[in-house]
Amino acid sequence: MKEIKKGYFNVRTEKNKLKIDYMSGFIEKSKINVDKPLFDKMCKDGCVNYNKKYSCPPFSPNFKIISKNYEGLFVIMFLCSLNQISSTEYNQVRIANVVMKSKLDTLMRNLEEKTGLKYLSTGSCRLCKPCKLKLKQPCKHPNKKRYSLESTGVDCDELTKKLFDISLQWYKNKKSPEYTSVLCGLICNKKDLKIIEKNLNLIINSFGC
Ligand code: SF4
Repeated sequence: MKEIKKGYFNVRTEKNKLKIDYMSGFIEKSKINVDKPLFDKMCKDGCVNYNKKYSCPPFSPNFKIISKNYEGLFVIMFLCSLNQISSTEYNQVRIANVVMKSKLDTLMRNLEEKTGLKYLSTGSCRLCKPCKLKLKQPCKHPNKKRYSLESTGVDCDELTKKLFDISLQWYKNKKSPEYTSVLCGLICNKKDLKIIEKNLNLIINSFGC
């Protein structure tokens, strides 16, 4: 039976105080739908980062290969209801994503330090602007570069439905959705869960305002 932990924390922005919901849980890798060729093609057809960042397709590895020595994935999702943000519809999504990605990156880097594991990120690597690939130079921070879950072929919408009963929603036709969410994962074994969960709580408690 899946064990899902849920909670929330508040973040203050210039104009709003946002309640960010979070949920986390472990899933065995055999239950994760991975289709690297499909997601590479979707990225090639519809994403400006294709072949422009070392963290993105066609450079990103297949989840099945990087998880081969592990039992599964510990997934953490942040979710923000957009009716809390007084702004244009596009800006609602942008503000929520900027706030959540920054907090989630902090959380995941901290969890890496505590566990010795590596995380799969939300979106492409944002450490350099532009990514050195665009300048035909080697990656500047190969040890810090992180791949997104979807760039490794993981079906993230199916993953969040399976684990949390929540669908991902996107800004479409100039309309913001009810909520927006970001998710990351730590490839791990079940024996790692205790230390992950203990530190997850400590780090998220330090976010409070
Ligand atoms: S660390 Fe810099 S150069 Fe390397 S993938 Fe990330 S953005 Fe690109």
